[in-house]
Amino acid sequence: MSHFKDNMTAEQLAERALFHLKYSRGKDLRAATTFDKMMCFSHAVRDMAVDGFIATQRQYLDQDVRRVNYLSMEYLIGKMLSNNVYALGIEKIACEALKALNITTEEILALDVEAGLGNGGLGRLAACYLDSLATKELPAYGYGIRYEHGIFRQEFDHGWQKERPDEWLALGYPWELIRPEYTLPVCVYGRVKKNFRPGQGTADVWEDFQVFEAVPYDVPIIGYQVNTVNMLRLWKSQPAEGFRLDVFNQGDYVRAVEEKNWAENVSKVLYPSDYTYAGKELRLIQEYFLASCSVRDIIRRYKKNHSDYSKFAEKNVIQLNDTHPTLAIVELMRVLHDEEQIPWDDAWDITVSTFCYTNHTLLAEALEKWTVDLLQRVLPRHMQIIFEINHRFLQKVELNHPGDGDLMRKVSLIEEGQHKQVRMANLCVIGSNKVNGVSALHSNLLKTNTMPEFNKVYPGKFTNVTNGITHRRWLIKANPELSELISENIGEDWKLDLAELNAFEAYASKRAVQKKFMEIKRQKKVELCQTIKELTGYIVSPDSVFDVQIKRLHMYKRQLLKAMHIIHLYNKIKADPKTKIQPKTFIFAAKAAPAYLIAKSVIKLINTMAEVINNDVDVAGRLKVVFLPDYNVSLAEKIIPAADISEQISTAGLEASGTGNMKLSLNGALTVGTWDGANIEIAQNVGEDNIFIFGNRTEDLAELGRKGYNPWAYMDKSEDLQGVLEALRDNSFDPSEPDLFKDLYNEVTEHGDFYYYLADYEDYIKCNEEVDKLYAKPTKWAEKAILNVARMGWFSSDRSIQDYVDDIWHLKKTPVDMTDDIS
Ligand SMILES: *Cc1c(COP(=O)(O)O)cnc(C)c1O
Repeated sequence: MSHFKDNMTAEQLAERALFHLKYSRGKDLRAATTFDKMMCFSHAVRDMAVDGFIATQRQYLDQDVRRVNYLSMEYLIGKMLSNNVYALGIEKIACEALKALNITTEEILALDVEAGLGNGGLGRLAACYLDSLATKELPAYGYGIRYEHGIFRQEFDHGWQKERPDEWLALGYPWELIRPEYTLPVCVYGRVKKNFRPGQGTADVWEDFQVFEAVPYDVPIIGYQVNTVNMLRLWKSQPAEGFRLDVFNQGDYVRAVEEKNWAENVSKVLYPSDYTYAGKELRLIQEYFLASCSVRDIIRRYKKNHSDYSKFAEKNVIQLNDTHPTLAIVELMRVLHDEEQIPWDDAWDITVSTFCYTNHTLLAEALEKWTVDLLQRVLPRHMQIIFEINHRFLQKVELNHPGDGDLMRKVSLIEEGQHKQVRMANLCVIGSNKVNGVSALHSNLLKTNTMPEFNKVYPGKFTNVTNGITHRRWLIKANPELSELISENIGEDWKLDLAELNAFEAYASKRAVQKKFMEIKRQKKVELCQTIKELTGYIVSPDSVFDVQIKRLHMYKRQLLKAMHIIHLYNKIKADPKTKIQPKTFIFAAKAAPAYLIAKSVIKLINTMAEVINNDVDVAGRLKVVFLPDYNVSLAEKIIPAADISEQISTAGLEASGTGNMKLSLNGALTVGTWDGANIEIAQNVGEDNIFIFGNRTEDLAELGRKGYNPWAYMDKSEDLQGVLEALRDNSFDPSEPDLFKDLYNEVTEHGDFYYYLADYEDYIKCNEEVDKLYAKPTKWAEKAILNVARMGWFSSDRSIQDYVDDIWHLKKTPVDMTDDIS
């Protein structure tokens, strides 16, 4: 018997959807809203993954395979329906079936729910990796939090960002399966007491803690054209069952019911800041919540096949996506040592052999450090265990590097000072067997600049896995027209193995292919023009160059540098309206962390510039600026296929990898970028002739820093730059509020220009002029754009996952057998 999806007809799929409409939603077709139809259709599609889901889980259990457990506080998975239909290979019958529901594909896809359980790149990476793990038939579990409110919805009010709650669950989410039978208790607070254990002396016992619960919700992750259906298990918090109200609040029943709600708050909301760390108690509890439930769920599953822990590390990898789930290391130690009474050294061996850690940033403000006071209060036993880990670790360091006090201070888990803090990155390095960065440059900087002491203590522990993206979502689904053009010329093999895309290179110089490529690009731009009009009211021309910068708003990502370039062009036009200029549409999309005031000023600046420039008669429509609200996965899927230019202009050394850069290049946008993150590897793959690299490199900036960087020197040298900065200083866009952008002016001048905007400005302007020169030669441009597409095969997340498998995880491909009788 084969997978039943293979035999399904459109009629049967429609019947299933109507069945769900009636029996899951209690409606008939006449009463059904379009949302009802989306829900029941999604349920019908989900049904088709259920046999694979069951068979996959059963096979992992029966074969007792080694698995990877991916722990991440964020999963930016975006909409699922279209991707799931594609993965199941039922696109044709899905289209047919929708007719029976009286709804178009566009209508139903518009209502699909955007799951925004992440901030940006880190969460999107986790989503791409789950897709690749399932498609490559690898035994994997994703663990995360089912935030009731994901990343906020962004609106603009007079150009300022306003945050609105994301209500993605309000009407129901069709892809999840609730699993109350796997509910776990979670403990926080309380104290540790010394108790006597017969035959073992005293033991530390954690007591008087408060208990709440974690309920798992499973989202099936469907592999493309394989039987494998893995799961993403998301935890929701709730008050513990049988919660004793009288214990909580003597006599006041109503207050007690109210107060027990603190447990519901744990999974209430995603913290909306990217690359910053705030030290908030609720966030700590969230991190422990994920760590603790996931570790104990993994143990529960392991125990189905094993009666002791001798094979735990052989059967399980736990991969930490950044330091956010670090407490999983401590939790596993606590369970092994305190609950299972395994001697410390053995427990530690198992723990280190199980964990691996991915570092995502070198930015100081992102490094998680929890105060000892807070940890002691929330997780008293865990704090003790951390001290013990540190004590034993430092003893070993002292043994191998006697008298090296400086080394000891740097590698210690505890940062001394007025408020002692625990360094979570150090804990990850000590508690893992492998540590990886996410691009070649980043991994090297991690070893040589950020953690050289650890590289000395643990030679061989540090490695690199360059990030990747799933081409199924970011090319095949987002850009079916370009996919079709590729397949027409080189066949379909590239869809299964993106390395095969290289064969498209031979067509880069063919006029007919270039023409078709540019026609497709224009068509995607026409479609985006419609979206731009709907979202902003602005009318932009598909015949202008679409210059795109889409990513979280951060000073290191330097959206302000792009704005400075636009001011430069605008000043040129104002000085001489007849000046020749390449018509351009500058497209931004970015959310700023709600408390990141200077980033919010950049949003206000760009929106203000848009209003002035888009309506200026001297500009005459040659420059347009649009800031699209509410950047998310779905919006990215619309913008990326329409991009001519991809702006990747971070301060060198600060963008760990970037993945937006990969999505854009894969869709034939030419990169304007600094020598940073994965831009470097993109340059090496597409060829340095097919990318625009500018600006100071990491080592140049380090040298500038050593000599005493002086931003004023750049201003003194350049009248052009003075003009740009005056526009900021005096707000030439709205003289009624002259001080509006002083903070931005100060950032790059008075405050020392920490991110080297002025050091890179001149080269950036020159580089953009080179871009315009090339765009004036359409065949040259088309050829380079096609070469970008053809040479991006290496950046598939399938390749990244293979690197993890070969270098770190050592998993076995486990094709799922569906020939068994499934009843
Ligand atoms: C890919 C992606 C990102 C990451 O973009 P970078 O340019 O690498 O920072 C962020 N948000 C969304 C919605 C994405 O799809």
